[in-house]
Amino acid sequence: MNKLFTRRQFLRGSLAAMAGIALSGMFRFPYQAEAQSAQPAFDLDRRVFHLSNGMQMPILGLGTYTLMNRVAESSVLSALENGYRLIDTAAGYGNERGVGQGVQKSGVGRDEIFLTTKLWPTNVAMSDIDHRLELLEMDYIDLLLLHQPDGDYVSAYRTMEEAVRQGKVRALGLSNFTATQIEEILEMAEIPPVLLQVETHLRHQQKLTAQYLKGREIALEGWSPLGGRPNTPIFLTDETVQEIAGACGKTPAQVIIRWHLQSGRICIPGSSSADHIRENIDVFDFSLSEEEMERLNGMDRKEPFFPEMGPRDEDTLAVMQSLSMTD
Ligand code: NAD
Repeated sequence: MNKLFTRRQFLRGSLAAMAGIALSGMFRFPYQAEAQSAQPAFDLDRRVFHLSNGMQMPILGLGTYTLMNRVAESSVLSALENGYRLIDTAAGYGNERGVGQGVQKSGVGRDEIFLTTKLWPTNVAMSDIDHRLELLEMDYIDLLLLHQPDGDYVSAYRTMEEAVRQGKVRALGLSNFTATQIEEILEMAEIPPVLLQVETHLRHQQKLTAQYLKGREIALEGWSPLGGRPNTPIFLTDETVQEIAGACGKTPAQVIIRWHLQSGRICIPGSSSADHIRENIDVFDFSLSEEEMERLNGMDRKEPFFPEMGPRDEDTLAVMQSLSMTD
């Protein structure tokens, strides 16, 4: 737990969490669509991140990369039935229709769900955003990300800002941008990005990125939290992870997801298996000790599987120094 947390805050958080669980079932997120605070903060007890624009988003969701429409539909349905309220898709995944169908069929209210999709930034027009809404069969997108810093991403971001003004999108974010590119967006933005989605797992823990983003009031959401296909076995069969899993009476995947959450990262493991989907959200009945967290933190090799994408420490450090964000 954060050392700055007072006992009173802890009790308040615990009571709120207990009320949320009692009201909404064992694994449901006590998610509220209404804005309550403009102070960005990761709230593990209430299972929400308070974004800098005042919105709250669930800290654990379903990733849908590689899921074709029909599989995406059944996976989203399964996720929503198991209490997930955050779904991550992208124009590039070609499955927004299936994701939208899963949401419709679940019967869960649209205002209870936090839907993220992403735009490929080359030649973005308002019609591209409208097309996302048509495929999803939704009136609005909760969080729209620019998938990559490609093409004229500044102009793409301006179009996304206009979509927010028109009520089609509630919040904006970036994916795979470096610190320098984030600064470029912050410089021009009238509606600042609330979140960065980047490769984050035990071997590439993004510690410096997290520090930089905190200073810029931007949430960190990790993609490929289990290492991504085909790398998940590296982590799921890792001796340290397995030992901790045994000690906690949980699975390796649950230990890794819990590590992401206790580290303050929003986590979106991908799966089409109903069993894995259920398993991956069953991470709120245990916690990792400080020693276990340290052991997992020690697995960081600053080694991305996709080194050409996302922040680089040298660049991040230079940006932080220019902003006097380092000691
Ligand atoms: P991941 O780390 O979530 O791993 C997915 C793999 O883990 C799948 O093969 C799945 O079958 C397996 N798995 C899931 N739960 C398991 C469990 N409990 N036990 C054993 N195996 C399990 O990788 P990912 O799907 O690449 O990343 C998560 C999400 O992040 C994606 O689905 C997508 O939404 C997003 N993403 C974004 C970007 C980006 O550029 N912004 C890139 C990649 C992924």
